Amino acid sequence: MTASFPASRTRGVLKKLASLYADMDAAYTAAAAAAGLSCAGCADNCCVSFFQHHTHAEWLYLHEGLAKLPPERREAYEARARAYVAAVRESLALGQTPTAMCPVNDDGLCGLYEHRLMICRLHGVPNILLAGMHIREFPGCGPCQTLTAGGGAKAMDRTPLLRRLAALEMELWGSRPGRPPKVDLTLAEMILAGPPGK
Ligand code: SF4
Repeated sequence: MTASFPASRTRGVLKKLASLYADMDAAYTAAAAAAGLSCAGCADNCCVSFFQHHTHAEWLYLHEGLAKLPPERREAYEARARAYVAAVRESLALGQTPTAMCPVNDDGLCGLYEHRLMICRLHGVPNILLAGMHIREFPGCGPCQTLTAGGGAKAMDRTPLLRRLAALEMELWGSRPGRPPKVDLTLAEMILAGPPGK
């Protein structure tokens, strides 16, 4: 599916990605505290959100987490991933936004918490993103919008975090020509495809 990545480069990128993820978690925690947001007891579940835009670095990190699981648990996630892909196809064929549950969600808990993707780490809080000369504003999830309706909550700036992720993707890509292609896959598709380059 994609060109393979040298093991030494992959190791270095995944180490830096772990550090970036820790910084994302810290930024999220601060923004959630400022907004008074807690996921505990939330009636909404973000893990049914349909999302397809990821990076090869995150895809590799996801598989690093999967490889650490006992085989039977990994196989259970793969079976759920197949069901997820089928459910998504059905929804899309009907012109509906897919709402299937993420295949690694175990009764409300993330089964790959340490290896979850950027979107799982940053979703929910009000945030901004500097895109070219424009600032894009995101109000956060529904419950957060209710909490911050009176204003005053400081938005988290995702820009430096996303820039670091983009730099890691380029580092992984190495000196080969062009830019890395977009990874327009769901988490379920990334599970079923195996690590990128395999
Ligand atoms: S990886 Fe974990 S946090 Fe992300 S959608 Fe799936 S269950 Fe939820």
